[in-house]
Formats: sequence, C-alpha cells, structure tokens
Amino acid sequence: MANAEILKYLIDLLAVLLLALGIKGLSKVRSARSANRLAAIAMGLAVIGVLVNALTTSGISLNAWIWIIFGLIIGSSLGILTAQKVPMTAMPETVALFNGCGGMSSLLVAIGVTLYPLNDTQAPLSVGLIGLISIITSVFVGAITFSGSIIAMAKLQGWLSTPPWIQNKSRHALNIAFAVISLIAATQLFQGEINGLWLLVITSSLLGIGVTLPIGGADMPVVISLLNSYSGVAAAAAGFVINSQLLIVAGAMVGAAGLILTQVMCKGMNRSLISVLFGGAISTSVAQSSGGSEYQNITSCSPEECALTLESSERVVIVPGYGLAVAQAQHTLREVTRTLEANGIEVTYAIHPVAGRMPGHMNVLLAEADVPYEQLKEMDIINPEFPATDVVLVLGANDVVNPQAKKDPMSPLYGMPVLDVQEARTVFVIKRGMSAGYSGIKNDLFELANTSMIFGDAKKVLTDLLVELKELGVGNPG
Ligand code: NDP
Repeated sequence: MANAEILKYLIDLLAVLLLALGIKGLSKVRSARSANRLAAIAMGLAVIGVLVNALTTSGISLNAWIWIIFGLIIGSSLGILTAQKVPMTAMPETVALFNGCGGMSSLLVAIGVTLYPLNDTQAPLSVGLIGLISIITSVFVGAITFSGSIIAMAKLQGWLSTPPWIQNKSRHALNIAFAVISLIAATQLFQGEINGLWLLVITSSLLGIGVTLPIGGADMPVVISLLNSYSGVAAAAAGFVINSQLLIVAGAMVGAAGLILTQVMCKGMNRSLISVLFGGAISTSVAQSSGGSEYQNITSCSPEECALTLESSERVVIVPGYGLAVAQAQHTLREVTRTLEANGIEVTYAIHPVAGRMPGHMNVLLAEADVPYEQLKEMDIINPEFPATDVVLVLGANDVVNPQAKKDPMSPLYGMPVLDVQEARTVFVIKRGMSAGYSGIKNDLFELANTSMIFGDAKKVLTDLLVELKELGVGNPG
C-alpha cells in the first residue's frame, strides 16, 4: 500500500472515531457543545482525506480541481453564513434543509456514477449486483429524503399548509402506486435500461412528497428525525456506490442515530411511527370540534401580582416553551430565577421533549443562559412534583401544557404526554395573547381557576417582573 493511501486510511479512521465520539457526546447536554466541535473536526478531516486522495491520484484534470475548489468555497461560505444568520427558532427548518441537502448529494452521486462510471472503460450500469443495489438504494432513499425534507422545511417555515384533499384515504393508493412504479423503474435499471434511472428519480421524489405532505402539527419532530435517519441511509448507500468506507460508516451512524432519535420522539409524543406516517395530519374540523376556539372566564393579572405570589412561595417550577425562544428571554429569565433563589426559593425547570421547535431546543436555550443542568427535570420526573409546587411560570409554552391531551379523545393532541402544571397551587401563563400553539388548538389550562394569564412579550414581562421582585426586596441581602 502506498504511503498516501495509508495516510488517507488513517485520516478516515480518525474522522470515524471523532464522529462516533461526537454523536455519543450529543446525547448529553453537558457534553453537547464539545461533541458538536468533535463532529465538525471529523467532517473537516473527511474533506482533507478526500483531498489527499485526489492529490495522489493521477489523471485528475485541472478542470476537476476547479470544480473541487469551487465546491469547497461555496459550501464553506454557505455553512458559515447559515451558522451566523439563522436564529435558534428557525433551527428545525434548517435541519430539514440540511437533511434534504444530504439526500440530494447521495442522489447526485448515484446519478453521476451511473452516467459516468468511475472506471472510464466501464459501460454505464455494468457495476455488478452490489453496485446496482447501491445505486438504486442511493437514488430511491436520496430522492425521498430530498423531496420530503423540502416539504417539511416549507411546512415548518409556514410556506405550505396541509391541503384538505390530502386527508382523503385515497392518498395511500397514490403512494402505493409511486412505490410500485419505483420498483418497476428499479427492475429496468437491473436490466441495464438507463431510462429507469430518471423514472426512479421522479417516482421516489413524488413518494417523498406524498408521504410527508399529510403530516403536520405535533408530528413534525418525528418526521424531521426520521428524515435525518434516511439521509444517513442514503449517504451509506452512496458510500457503497463510490467505494468510500468513510461514507458507509458515517452514513450508517447517522442512520442509526436518527432512528434512535425517532424512537425517542415517538415515545415523547406517545405516537407509534406507523400512526405518524400513515395517520396523516389532524384536520382543522377535528381541531375545532375539541372544545371550540373561544375562551371564557380568563383571569389575567400584572407582573406585580405575580411578584407578590412568588415572594411568598417556596417551590417554583419554570416551564419554558417556544415563545421563550422567540422572545430570546432566557437571560432575563435566569436573572429572575437567580433573584428567587437568593430568597431561598427552590427553582426547577420542567423540560418537555417536544417543547420549542427542535429536539433539545429548551436545553440549548437554557444552557445559553447558564442554567445549571441539575435544575432541568424531564417530564416523567417533574410531573409527580407539581402537586407540591407553589407556583408554575409557563413561559411561551402552550401545547406541552394542554390538559386536553389527557382528557379529550377528540383532541388532536390526545395521547401526547404533557406537563401536569394545573396540579400546582398557582399557574401563571406568560404569552402575548390568546393565540394557539403549534397544533392550532384551544388550551383548557388557560380557563382553569388556578391559572392567571400575564399578557405580553416574555422578555418584557420578565423584565417587569424582575423590577417588581426587586421593589419587594426579593433577593436583596438581609
Ligand atoms: P407552542 O408552539 O405550543 O406555543 C408557543 C406559544 O408561545 C404560542 O401560543 C404563542 O402565543 C407564544 N409566544 C410566541 N411568541 C411569544 C413571545 N415573544 N412572548 C411570549 N409568548 C410568545 O409551544 P410549545 O413549546 O408549548 O410546544 C411545541 C409545539 O411545537 C408542539 O406542538 C410540538 O409538537 C411542536 N414541534 C416541536 C418540534 C420539536 O422538535 N421540539 C418540532 C416541530 C414542531 P402568543 O402568540 O399568544 O404569544
């Protein structure tokens, strides 16, 4: 084996190791930041490995180098720009777009190798059984991932809503038809007919749209993690196509990690994967039938009244939600909780697995404000503690504290485990108005006798609350 080849294998091995460590570290809030860095270094090494390979392979034209450098500049610039510009609240759309890019890359690699075989003397599609299976898998899964992710991104961005006609059960027949035609196209590819390639690209893309379009509401987190897993499978298949061990291993790891995350999200929502994929979206009529959307008997209060109640409390639980991220109020919240703690009040944070707009969104948000990890409690741990809680502050959360999910079988949220905040003595809900959450439905919590609404932007209300607490002498030494 030549020295350059050994160097490339060593670089690949190091990249795989760092990627594995990175994925492992991402499962814990404490190690997530450094894990992300490790994974980024792994990707950097993977690129270096490819360049080393290209440098030592004879016959790579100047033209090819121009394309490589062009790709590196465009890709790196887009990556840096995205990391700097995209707000945390837009992360799910960004992740969906990245998944789509992964799918598209695998698809393009497979198309490229089919049309222009790696070995110049080889005829297109004369790559043997494993080669053909890899190309077909890469095209099929890559196209589904690409089109599905673009639909998911458009839905999360609010550019696309679920069309009413898609609720019709006949969509299943349509999707089966796309799957059957994809199978026919794959058979054509096996027989060496290049036209099968384009048919497979079209029908698998349509299948991706057909499967993702009906899914919406609270099921979106599951879809995003599943598409993430698909992008890994597509990358692994592309690895077989171009004979890259690194891509095979990395793709398999992403595929497996995405699948585990999908399972975790399904458990968090109490939904089976089958019901997410084949159940479709909740129609607006169902949403409206569960208790209507008009509110009665709403009690509202001022930050001053909230401060008075907090002053005399012993145990306070904070429930962060999407609105807290929109308001970017995490640092002000931390100041409020520090003030309460200085008064001897015990403060904990209740973390719902799908609060916000991406898995782990609230953990990331609170970590930004240096909230100690020990104070974050998962739903199963905190729920039995609510009856012994004096005050719950619900900050821009809605669906994750909706009691309908437990009580109303007609509710689209029915079955999703929620935080039982209504069991606490007093609940304050801080939000701008009576708008619904992501699922678009009414929240019975807001009408309960022990709930008071404080209307306003979360950051503004928390700032006012801090002023009131200080005026009451809460947190002041002595
Ligand atoms: P919700 O989306 O249910 O509700 C957020 C609430 O925040 C809204 O009712 C809104 O009311 C309020 N709000 C918005 N901006 C502000 C602001 N500046 N200040 C104060 N309040 C504000 O959030 P939850 O976190 O409770 O639930 C998450 C939902 O998102 C779930 O349905 C989940 O399934 C879904 N989802 C989750 C994903 C994930 O991976 N975590 C991904 C995709 C979807 P108002 O306008 O009246 O202020």
